[in-house]
Amino acid sequence: MLKRPALVVLLSVATIAACTDNPTAPTVTTPPPFPTVNVPLPTTVPGVLGLRMPIDASDAATTAFGLAPFGYHGADHAADGHPGWDVEYRIGGIVRSAAAGTVQSVFADPSVPGRSTVQIEHVVGTHFYRTVYTNLATVSPGIAADAAVLAGQSIGVAGTVSQTVGTTPITYAMTHFQLDDFEYYRNVPNPNAVTPEPFLTPEARSFFERVWSTAVSSTELIEPYASNPRDLRFPASRTWTRVSGDGPAGIRFTRSDARNPNYEYAVLAESGTAVETGTVTLALTARPFPTIDLVAATGRRLGTYDIVSNQMRLSLANAGSSRPVDLGAASYYRTPQ
Ligand SMILES: [Zn+2]
Repeated sequence: MLKRPALVVLLSVATIAACTDNPTAPTVTTPPPFPTVNVPLPTTVPGVLGLRMPIDASDAATTAFGLAPFGYHGADHAADGHPGWDVEYRIGGIVRSAAAGTVQSVFADPSVPGRSTVQIEHVVGTHFYRTVYTNLATVSPGIAADAAVLAGQSIGVAGTVSQTVGTTPITYAMTHFQLDDFEYYRNVPNPNAVTPEPFLTPEARSFFERVWSTAVSSTELIEPYASNPRDLRFPASRTWTRVSGDGPAGIRFTRSDARNPNYEYAVLAESGTAVETGTVTLALTARPFPTIDLVAATGRRLGTYDIVSNQMRLSLANAGSSRPVDLGAASYYRTPQ
C-alpha cells in the first residue's frame, strides 16, 4: 500500500495582543464542548469559504494514486480517519493556495526531513478556516507568516516520495491538503479537519471530478468516496445490490478492524441470506480495470470490476474459469451513499 508521510498539524492558538498599559493575567477559557451530533457541512455561517484545488490541471498526475480521500479508507488511513486529501502532482508541480488568506505559519515538516508545511488562515465574516499544505520541497518567495496570499498563488513545489510498489520503484510528488474549520469539533484526531469537497467552487468541482475519476482509491470496496467518515466503527461493511445482469443478487464486503486492510465477502441471495463467504484479493492498480478475486473454501473466482461513486460494474468468472478481460458482460450493482 502507499506509504504517505505522517501528517503533523500544529494546533493553532489564538493570540491576543497584550495590553502593555494595563497588563492582566491571561484568562483561562474552557474550549467549546464536542457536539453530540455532527454539524452539517458546509457550515451555516454566511459567506461559506469557496475553495479551488491546490493544483493546476497541467500538474495533476496518477503515477501512484492520483488523489487519496478524506476520512477512513485503505490500509494506512483507516485508523486516523485521514484529515485531508493527498494530492498527487507531476514532479516539479506547483502547490497553490486554495483560497485568498493570510499565511499563518511556515515550518519544517517534522515527519519528512527537508520538507516544509504552510498553513494559511481564511476568515469569512467571523468564521475562521485554515488550509494546510505539507511536504513542500521548496516554499515560494514571499510565503511567510502574516503575508497575504491570493487564491491560486504559488506557495511552493510539491515534494517527492520514493517507494517500492511490489518490486517496482516509483517516485511521485504529493502534498497533503487539509481544511480546518475552527467552528467544527469532533472527537477524533485533528478535530477541526473537515472534507474540502462541499467547499469547492463549481469550476474546482468539475476539475476535482476528473481527478477523482482516475484515483486508485475511487475503487475501494466499502469506502469508494472522496469524503468518507472519520469515525467509522469496525467491523465496517458495505452491501452492493444487483440492478442488472446475471451476477450474484448482492455482495457484502466487510473489514474487521482498522489496521487490517483485507476484506471479507458474503455473496447474498435475493433474500439477503449469505450463500457463500470468503476473503477478497484486490489489485486496485491493475489496468485497464482493477481485479478482484473472491476466495472461498470451495474455490477461487476471478473478477474484473470498477466503481464510480455508488455504482459497481462486476464481471465475475465461475471457479476454475479465467478472468473476464473487460466489463462488457458486467452486472451492475448499487449501494446507498
Ligand atoms: Zn494525507
